[in-house]
Amino acid sequence: MRRNWIVWMLCLALLFTVLPLQALAAEDTKEETTQTEASGDNEDKDTEKEAEATATPSPTPTPSASPSATVSPTPTPSESPAAEEEDRAPSKYLFIGDSRTVEMSQAVTEDKADTFIAQRGAGIDWFCSEAVKKAKEVKVDTDYAVLFLMGVNDREEDASTVTKRYCDEINALAEEWTALGADVYFVSVTAVDEAKENSYTYPYNVKNSWIAEFNKLMQKQLSSNVRYLDINSVVKSHLSCRADGIHYNDSSYQEIYGLLKNDVALYNAVTDKTPYTAKNASDKTHDVTACSSKAFTDVNKNPYNWQHSAIDYVTEKGLMAGISDKLFAPNSTVTRGMAVTMLYALEGKPEVSGASRFKDIKSGQYFYKPILWADGAGVANGTGEDAFSPMVAVTREQFAVMLYGYARFSGFDTGNSAALDSFKDAKNVSNYAKEALCWAVANGVMSGDTGGRLLPKSSLTRAQTAAMLRSFMENIVIPAAGESAA
Ligand SMILES: [Zn+2]
Repeated sequence: MRRNWIVWMLCLALLFTVLPLQALAAEDTKEETTQTEASGDNEDKDTEKEAEATATPSPTPTPSASPSATVSPTPTPSESPAAEEEDRAPSKYLFIGDSRTVEMSQAVTEDKADTFIAQRGAGIDWFCSEAVKKAKEVKVDTDYAVLFLMGVNDREEDASTVTKRYCDEINALAEEWTALGADVYFVSVTAVDEAKENSYTYPYNVKNSWIAEFNKLMQKQLSSNVRYLDINSVVKSHLSCRADGIHYNDSSYQEIYGLLKNDVALYNAVTDKTPYTAKNASDKTHDVTACSSKAFTDVNKNPYNWQHSAIDYVTEKGLMAGISDKLFAPNSTVTRGMAVTMLYALEGKPEVSGASRFKDIKSGQYFYKPILWADGAGVANGTGEDAFSPMVAVTREQFAVMLYGYARFSGFDTGNSAALDSFKDAKNVSNYAKEALCWAVANGVMSGDTGGRLLPKSSLTRAQTAAMLRSFMENIVIPAAGESAA
């Protein structure tokens, strides 16, 4: 326990430094299974006998910086309006496909939540004999989205016969898996570049007209347990193919992968099982390619999830950063030192001079300058005459005081005030925090939980803090900037 505590302290101390904390991330990757098999140079020879790409799913790791073991549990505050929807989005993905899927897995950032069953040159026979068997070995449950990406290698088959064989297998698997709570998708076969294909000595000939017929027949025969994802109509016009006309460049695989995860998330964002079919990229208010949190494997992939959108917002604006390249640690607790550092970043990290009056911080610590600034600006108070307690979790009421202090320091309008009487636990609010909380509630920066409580003494997770910072930006900072510009 004590050891955990020390490890956590070290992690927190490093949190806002430039160190990428690769060591911590690496610790979580040890158990990882090698996924798609990288095959050699003969990438376009579908007929060549090649190794299969199969992986067993590994459990999603807990970020090592998560202090859950050392701090008291955080109640869910109202900054999580979509908490019940959050659980709907899958956290694990099983992809079943051919060489395009093999290559997609190689083109994207490794995600431990992904399992690939894929083989080059694979078509209906491999699917029925091998893929189905391997897929049944995966312990599919409510966390899973299963995506089928087959068909492009079956162009020599009669489309109506081969689609029936696919649908018989997929529908049977989907019946089993949806009963277990998983979501099952068939992904439309994406386009080939016919001009390139014709100039290349490729053993087969795939036409987009055949692909269109295949997709149409699949859509018709898939059962209601299978959701049809039409990404071809979105990406057809701008896929960049390699010389063979069938395989793509990395950028296109990355786009397809992003679209798939985004579309699965959108499916899950709707309250019923109504299929979501993207008509074109502009249908979406969330730009997958520009998503600032897409590299984080521990952030919910649903762009309309409250955590995802808040984390997109604060990382894009530089108010918060991940704890490593791949982890944001949304459920880790925010300390007083971190909270002040966020506001210091919002202020543009002004130069400070002199020494701090607080005895529990040292020059060189990531929060030293932020605390020195915040103390001088009246943005944050110490926890005693000469103590700031930077490593202690910030409470909701303390964070409200800091935001209020920052608003006053910046000359924003702080006149708006709401009564706290309606909250069941209003009496728990500290005297020093009352004015700040009245302001925070009145301006939608903070609100009660579903039980009508304000939870002034509770701590905040990084995701909750991101949501509050976003509200603070949208309700206070940006309107004030608009006024001063007018
Ligand atoms: Zn995003």
